[in-house]
Amino acid sequence: MFKTLKSKVSLVYLCLVIMIAILGFASTLNLFVLSKSIDGLMTDNYKSINALNNMIASINEQNTSVLYYTSSNEQIGIDDFYKYSDKFYKFYNIEINNITESGEKEAVERIKDQYISYLKSFAKLQKIKINESNEKAIDFYNKEIIVLYNQIKNELEGLVVLNEQAMFNSKSMVTTDSLTSMYIILILSTIAVVGGFFAARIYVNKSLKPIYLLTETVKAVKEGDLSQEVPVLTNDEIGHLAAEFNKMIKRLEQFEHSSKGKLLAEKNKSLSIVKSIYDPLIVLDTNLRIVLLNSACEEIFNIKEEKVINKHFFETIKNIDLYDYISNVSEMSEDGHKEKIMHMQSNNKDYYFNVISTLIKDSNQCVKGIIVLFQNVTHLKQLEKIKTDFIATISHELKTPLTSIMMGISLFEDKNIGDLSEKQRRILDAIREDGEKLSGLVENLLQLSKIESDKALFNFEHCSITMIAERCVRGFEDQAVAKDVNLNFITQENLPKVNADHEKITWVINNLISNSLKYTKSGEDIVLNIYSKGGKMFISVKDTGIGIPPEYLDKIFDKFIQVKGDDSEMKGTGLGLSIAKEIVEAHGGRIWCESKLGQGSNFTFTLPVVS
Ligand code: ADP
Repeated sequence: MFKTLKSKVSLVYLCLVIMIAILGFASTLNLFVLSKSIDGLMTDNYKSINALNNMIASINEQNTSVLYYTSSNEQIGIDDFYKYSDKFYKFYNIEINNITESGEKEAVERIKDQYISYLKSFAKLQKIKINESNEKAIDFYNKEIIVLYNQIKNELEGLVVLNEQAMFNSKSMVTTDSLTSMYIILILSTIAVVGGFFAARIYVNKSLKPIYLLTETVKAVKEGDLSQEVPVLTNDEIGHLAAEFNKMIKRLEQFEHSSKGKLLAEKNKSLSIVKSIYDPLIVLDTNLRIVLLNSACEEIFNIKEEKVINKHFFETIKNIDLYDYISNVSEMSEDGHKEKIMHMQSNNKDYYFNVISTLIKDSNQCVKGIIVLFQNVTHLKQLEKIKTDFIATISHELKTPLTSIMMGISLFEDKNIGDLSEKQRRILDAIREDGEKLSGLVENLLQLSKIESDKALFNFEHCSITMIAERCVRGFEDQAVAKDVNLNFITQENLPKVNADHEKITWVINNLISNSLKYTKSGEDIVLNIYSKGGKMFISVKDTGIGIPPEYLDKIFDKFIQVKGDDSEMKGTGLGLSIAKEIVEAHGGRIWCESKLGQGSNFTFTLPVVS
């Protein structure tokens, strides 16, 4: 019946209201009884006592009247006697109608009879006085009337005492009643207070118990213990809440199981993908501690995953170059990626790896770790070396006969040998031009193979890039003037020195200026600009020439790549920019080109500044 918390609370309130009502009713009833007792005390007995006293007074007066009569004042005596007789009857009637005590009625009846006898006796006395003598009348008074008078008076006084006694009894009854009322109210109040206290305590404890249990379970669930269940003790709102909460925990548990399972499956999938990657791969956290590696990595670095997990990278793989490269995150491109070909030795074998280092970022772009992939390019490197060696050999072998051919042509042009016909001269000129081109190609190929095969040949020193650039610009001044091209040089003051092989850097700048001159029409501009920023030196050659199509911008640094449709008479070998790239990268710098077709090109390369 009382299923809901609301009805239970209402029930407790109802009980309290009933208790208060009972208490109020009992108090009112007692007060009523008390007031009734006081009422009885004040009116009925008092009325009787008053009437009886008046009756006593009347009969006393009548007795005096009788004595008057027996003396000389007969008429006054008779008049007074009947006057007081009327008064007596008047108060007698009040008394007869106000019988309150037991025995009172009988006494009043007796008084009535005695009083009638008293009245008759007075009539008899009158007759005696008239018919006989006054002495006989006095004698009759002393023998008869006085006796009746005393009897009536005694009865009346007895009744007064009875009523007074009743008044006293009423008083003690009122006292008893008030005390009883006080005790009843006290007992009821005590029952209400104690009962209310215990009922409230028991009820509150009973009501709060499920809430305490719910709170404990909520705490346990918060700590991650989803095996908990709240006991459903009641069928009220708290019981419903507990049941709903249990359902929620079950859902949570299901969700956790399913998401955990999914996560586990996803993790295993990712793990098997990583493990099955052919190239060595290692995953590091932000503190460069090893999180994961595959078997190829175990093999190449002679390590066991279980022994190195959570260890620092350098503690496990003691390769300082590799460690420097991986730990230097600042070199990363904007998308958190960098790669570099590195030489390593393992199990007495030489390896070349394209080490690709990529930052792991979460959805908020916070770095969570680094993936390092070692792409094995040893085979490609070997092929490249064979190719470079071959080109070097061929170039070297071509150089000697080419020199002889060029010398032969020079001899032909010497007048001492004899005059040549115009046709012979034109053929010789064509041979010389092609020979020069071939020599240039051979020179470039030799230069490239030298750089590729032995980077240690670089002669690094602290030098002023401004001086190198100035000399280069000066070297091209005549050509620029001849072609009517404005060759400008802009530089910052007090630029720091660079660590560079000044001959090779001169070669790079010359190649860039030479290209710009080749592809820039007369009247246009070439600007060589040097500035330092962020610990790097930037050297750029900008022209307003023909520009380079976008699809070539990345490719032109590869060997033998030339823009198609470029019919420049000065067309070179397609090796200049690839040599420049090799040189710049050997310095630890970078070279790139920005260009718009028909608007010009801007070639820029960087060099490390001496700190
Ligand atoms: P090349 O000896 O042919 O100049 P490079 O490697 O120096 O070889 O240049 C490769 C190609 O890049 C050139 O053939 C040319 O098509 C293009 N190129 C280089 N520099 C410029 C430039 N400043 N303006 C336009 N095209 C250029």
